[in-house]
Formats: sequence, C-alpha cells, structure tokens
Amino acid sequence: MSKSGNEHGGIGKKHNTFCSFCHKSYRDVGSLVEGPGDVYICGDCIDLCQHIIAQEKRRRAVNNPKPIAKIPSPKEIVAKLNDHVVGQDRAKKVLSVAVHNHYKRLINRDEGNDVTIDKSNVMLIGPTGSGKTLLAQTLAKILDVPFAIGDATTLTEAGYVGEDVENLILKLLHVADFDVELAQRGIIYIDEIDKIGKTSQNVSITRDVSGEGVQQSLLKMLEGTTANVPPQGGRKHPEQQYIQVDTTNILFICGGTFVGLEDIVGQRLGKKSIGFNTTAAKSQEAKSQEEAATHYLSEVASEDINHFGLIPELLGRLPVIATLEPLDESALVRVMREPKNALVKQYRRLFQMEDADVEFTDLALERIARLALEKKTGARGLRSIVEGVMLDILYELPDLPTGRTYQVTEDTVEGQSGVLPIGPASRVAKSA
Ligand code: ADP
Repeated sequence: MSKSGNEHGGIGKKHNTFCSFCHKSYRDVGSLVEGPGDVYICGDCIDLCQHIIAQEKRRRAVNNPKPIAKIPSPKEIVAKLNDHVVGQDRAKKVLSVAVHNHYKRLINRDEGNDVTIDKSNVMLIGPTGSGKTLLAQTLAKILDVPFAIGDATTLTEAGYVGEDVENLILKLLHVADFDVELAQRGIIYIDEIDKIGKTSQNVSITRDVSGEGVQQSLLKMLEGTTANVPPQGGRKHPEQQYIQVDTTNILFICGGTFVGLEDIVGQRLGKKSIGFNTTAAKSQEAKSQEEAATHYLSEVASEDINHFGLIPELLGRLPVIATLEPLDESALVRVMREPKNALVKQYRRLFQMEDADVEFTDLALERIARLALEKKTGARGLRSIVEGVMLDILYELPDLPTGRTYQVTEDTVEGQSGVLPIGPASRVAKSA
C-alpha cells in the first residue's frame, strides 16, 4: 500500500471525501484509506470489518475444528521444557508422556476410532517455587493451546460466596478469545488443590467447610461435562445466557505443596518395608531428612493423597502424579542463569538498552540463592532479592555515562558495596 495520499491504497486527504462504507466525512472520522476507483474507508469501518472477519473465522473453526497439528514426541516436549525449567527431570518426563497421550487421544477421537483412550489429568506435587505453574504454563506454550490458572481455595460449591468452578473455564475462554473449540483443547492449571482436602484446616465460614463440595464440582469438570459458563463471570442467575463448553478434552493439571504428605507416604512404605531392602529402606540411609522426605514423595500413590483428604473419585480423575523436588542452591543459581528468560539475562537486556552491560559473579549468585533458601519460597523469592540488590543502580543507570560493564558481587548482595563499573561494555557482551 502506498503511503502517498494521491495513489490508491494511501491515506485519503482530499477535501469532501467520505467513507464509502458508513458515508461519514473525513472531518468526523479522521483519515480515510483510499482504495482503487474512488473508494474510501474510515478507521471505524476497518475495525468493524476486522471484527466481522474474526467472528466468521471463529464460527468456521467451531464447525470445522482444525485438525491438531503434529503432536511433539515426549522427548521433543522435554527438550523444549528444558529451555525454560531447570531440573525436575522426572516430572518433565511424566508430564511429557501424559500430554503427548492426551493429544493423541484427541486425534484418536477425531478419527472416530472404537477404542477410546481415557483422559489423564495430572497432579503435580512439590514445594512452593519449584516450578509447578511454570511447567504447566510452558507446556501450554509448547503445544500452542490456551492456558488458564485458577486457585482451588477461591472456588466454592455453587450457592456459596466465592467463585464457581465454571469461572475457571471462563478464564480459558477469555484467553482463547471466546473461541469455544480452541478453549475445549486448552490446559487449566488449578493451584493449591491440597487446600481443599477434607482434613485441611479451613478458616472460612462462608464456604463449604469440608471442601468436599468443591471437590465434587471439580470432579465433574475433570471427568468431562458440558459446563454452562456465564460470559460475564460472577454468580449464575436463571435469566442469564450461558456459553456451553465441553470440558472432556480440556487437560487439567492440579498442583499443591501437600505439606506433611511425605510422612503419610513414609508410614505406608515403612510398614511394608521392614526387613527388606526396599526403596524405603534405602531412603532411611539418605543423608539428610530433607532428602528422605523428597525420596518418600517420589513414591507417592493415590491412597496417600486420599489420606491427605482428597476424595478417591477426584483422585481417580488425576491418574498421573508427578513430584517436584525442592530446588537446592546450585539449582537456584541455574534458575537465575540458564532459562531463556533467566533473571540474569533480563537484567543484561535492561542494561544493554542503556548501552551498558552487567555481570553477576558466581559468588553473588550463590549468595542470592542462599538468601532465597532462607525465605523458603523456592525460586519464587529470587526476583525480589535481585530487585532489591539492583534498585540503586537501576535508579542511577540512565544518567550515568554509557559504554560500561557493571559487576554484581557478593559484597553488593550483602549491601557492602554498590554495583560498580569494571570495564567497557563490550567486554562482557562478547564473553557471555
Ligand atoms: P510453584 O511450584 O509454586 O507453582 P512457580 O512455577 O510459580 O512455582 O515458580 C515461580 C517462579 O520461580 C517461576 O516463574 C520461575 O521464574 C521460577 N522457577 C521456579 N521453579 C523453576 C525451575 N525449576 N526452573 C526455572 N525457574 C523456576
């Protein structure tokens, strides 16, 4: 399209031009785009056309669902997860197989095969900040399907104050831009699933005290139902129009920390393992209690989670269980350095935008990792610590001379020195 106002396809600037679609004058609607043969269109009509075309595309997608593109193999999924998530090899393997099979199941269904493959929703168990949400989110990115996150603690049985489980589907619909077919193949991550256990302490008086009602409503969604989703969200009321979403092919990933679950597993394994050289016996030789706890968790079975307070029917719908390990100091250092979106890379980018560069020494990163470990929030604590360390230099940087490389040392992290320049900017940019 030419930029000149006098050629076809340019911005029409002639006096007395009108939009050929809505007949409004350019004086009222601003610039008009000129087409061949004295035709003009205004910005409002362009927007409207785009809207109509998008709607039409969505309608066609619903009637002729797009066949699923090639499903990545479990190995390919793990390779891509490795770009974003540090460690957690076992969880990555379990997830990659579950997700691969989930999408195979959809193809099988589309082909109308007699044998239907059951859905395998996933349960992720691991401490805060170990990468549960990140794994689910990254999977959705890899598969290019819509992804929504919900929190089980905000959910309530219908009729109580709080969110209906349908609101989780609504979030997915929003992300899918209300393309129902697309949303029906999405992934929903439900966090804090351990907090709706029957036995967990429940302080709220406005919701189902046992949490069991919420589990029942979740159960229906997990097994596959036609959910009536109120497009505006909020509580349902009888006169409302609903969007119907079939949840059969939505992959649900539930995550929780399940504090104390390792004891339940330990007891079960301990009882069965007396006198035998079982994995449980081996775990008793583990160097520290933490290692033993992690080891027990890796042996978790549905019955242990049932003990924890989740109803067996719900667990039956979460057949794939993956445990995540707590991240130790060296893993936290890798989290800051290695993923595509690693903190160190983000700060280097910020500095490079100011024509400068920054490097973090190994000792500085190790110190930051130890501070995060003390907070007991896993990798989640890293950002706020680094933000604190970098505040002063980020405040000053835009006004400082350009072309320098700055260094963050252990002393900087401990507040004993600032972030100081160590040389010209190119030095680090070439070496890192
Ligand atoms: P949770 O296990 O509590 O769901 P998240 O996945 O939300 O933890 O992690 C919080 C943040 O910590 C993530 O956004 C990511 O930046 C970082 N993080 C946590 N675990 C990892 C990991 N294994 N690899 C890389 N980054 C991680």
